[in-house]
Amino acid sequence: MELELVRSERLKVVGEMAAGFAHEIKNPLTTIKGFIQLFNERDNSRNEQFYELVGDEIDRVNKLMNELLELSNPKSIKKFETIDIEKLLNNCLTLHQSDMNDNHIELEVFFEKDLPELLADRNKLQQVFMNLFNNAIQAMPDGGNLIIRSSLDDQLKQIVVSVKDSGSGMSCETLQKLGTPFFTTKESGTGLGLTTSYRIIEEMGGTITVQSIEQGGTTFTVYIPLEMK
Ligand code: ADP
Repeated sequence: MELELVRSERLKVVGEMAAGFAHEIKNPLTTIKGFIQLFNERDNSRNEQFYELVGDEIDRVNKLMNELLELSNPKSIKKFETIDIEKLLNNCLTLHQSDMNDNHIELEVFFEKDLPELLADRNKLQQVFMNLFNNAIQAMPDGGNLIIRSSLDDQLKQIVVSVKDSGSGMSCETLQKLGTPFFTTKESGTGLGLTTSYRIIEEMGGTITVQSIEQGGTTFTVYIPLEMK
C-alpha cells in the first residue's frame, strides 16, 4: 500500500514535469510557426526582425534541451579540473558585462586572496554562477548593486561564494517554490536554472542557501567543499 502511494506520488511528479516540459516547448514552436507564416506575406520589410526572433526562440528551445539533459543525466561523464574560483567568477562576470551595463548595475567584488583551488567540472560550476548572475541582473531591470564575495571556511574546508543583489526580492510563496522544475515568474524563463544549479552543487557535496526580502534584494550563498565526496 505504501509502495503504491510512493509510486503514484512519483507518477504525479513525472506528470507535472511532462506538462511543464510540453508547455515550454510548445510556446516557442508556436511563435516560430507564426513568424514562418509571416515570411510568406508580400510585405517583407520586417523579415530581418522576424529572422532574429525565430533565431531567439530556437536558442530558447536549445537551452531548455541542454538544461533538461543536465537534469536527466546528472552523473554524466565529468571532466575534473583544478579551478581558480576567482578566475571562474571573473569569467562569468565578463560574460554578463553588457547585461550589467544595459541595466545600469554597479558591481562590487570582494575576493579573498589566495583561495585554494577546487577540483570540479568547470563547465558545470560555471553554469551555476552564470545562472545566479543572470537571475540577479534580471531582478534589477532599473539598476542596482551586485556584490560578489568569495572566502574560505577553513574549519569546514569549503569555499563560500555569495551573490547579493538589490533587486526585486521574492515573496514567501516564490521562495518556497525555488528549485521546482519549470517554476518561473518570467515571461521568457525556463524555470530550470535553479533546479540545475542546486543539482550540480549537491552533486559536489555542497549546498546553496537563499535569503530574500520582497523589494529588498536577494542573496544566494554557495558552499563548495574543497574535497569532493
Ligand atoms: P528562470 O530564471 O528561467 O525563471 P530559475 O530557476 O533560475 O528560472 O529561477 C526561478 C525563479 O526564481 C525566477 O523566475 C524568479 O522568480 C526567482 N528568482 C531567482 N533568482 C532571483 C533573484 N536573484 N531575485 C528575484 N527573484 C529570483
